Amino acid sequence: MSATIDLHCHSTISDGLYSPEALVAHAHKQGVKVLALTDHDDTSGLGVARQAAEQHGLQFINGVEISVTWKKRTLHIVGLKVDPEYTPLKSALTAVRQGRLDRAKLMAEGLEAVGIKDSLEGTQTIAGNSIITRSHFARFLVDNGHVKDVKTVFKKYLVKGKPGFVDHQWMSLQEAVTLIRDSGGTAVIAHPGRYDLGMVNMHLLMHEFRSHGGEAIEVVTGSHTPSQYEQFAKIAHRFSLKASLGSDFHGPGISYMEMGCISELPSDCVPVWQDWEEAKYLY
Ligand code: AMP
Ligand code: MN
Ligand code: MN
Ligand code: MN
Repeated sequence: MSATIDLHCHSTISDGLYSPEALVAHAHKQGVKVLALTDHDDTSGLGVARQAAEQHGLQFINGVEISVTWKKRTLHIVGLKVDPEYTPLKSALTAVRQGRLDRAKLMAEGLEAVGIKDSLEGTQTIAGNSIITRSHFARFLVDNGHVKDVKTVFKKYLVKGKPGFVDHQWMSLQEAVTLIRDSGGTAVIAHPGRYDLGMVNMHLLMHEFRSHGGEAIEVVTGSHTPSQYEQFAKIAHRFSLKASLGSDFHGPGISYMEMGCISELPSDCVPVWQDWEEAKYLY
């Protein structure tokens, strides 16, 4: 059976294709009962998403996905049940978004150096009022015929060693976890299977994350394979971390997984929503 909880997805506030309202309507249509919206580095969609969730009878959880630099790698930390009005979190996210703009300028310079002109302006037009992410650059490069699809764009232009890649310094792991916790939320390591860490670093990450007050990892996510569900269920157990679950849905055709189609957690996991009022009736 598919899970009816989804604690990771994106709207047009970051790099998703649906507005927060449309995303909630889509989740409802797909049978989701408890939903967290987790836009990258931005909580401004939470208010309207919550209103839409109330209209559809969904339980709504405030969320955010914070970009972090750890050992020269970019990691994503999801915050669940954060308070978007908590001033230190608000100010830190504002600074991250400014950093994104500076990074976008450097990315555009890198692309200009290989003959791709006006990518900053083009990408800003695509992003509109949203933050600028690599996904928006990818769409610009596809729309303008530089590459055939988004998957190829990342490989050719937007990853380490390629012209549009900028080695950006994000927030520290400790700062992200602390901000999430101090705002009343729970910190979750997003899609740990995507970071290509060896076992030693993976264990070090779990250890550090816990010591900063992190409480959960995503075990079931759209970007894990079923064998990774088992692998990360074991890691969660070993480090006494709770387990989270989310599709990481960005929109039709550009996501690892559709909403409402994701597996339930392996039975030996402690769900991150174990004590949540909003998820009470899932049991
Ligand atoms: P950014 O936070 O600006 O570095 O952008 C990261 C976003 O780009 C991720 O959240 C994904 O949505 C998207 N992304 C990263 N790698 C890929 C990939 N290989 N193919 C498609 N989308 C990707
Ligand atoms: Mn994304
Ligand atoms: Mn992510
Ligand atoms: Mn995500």
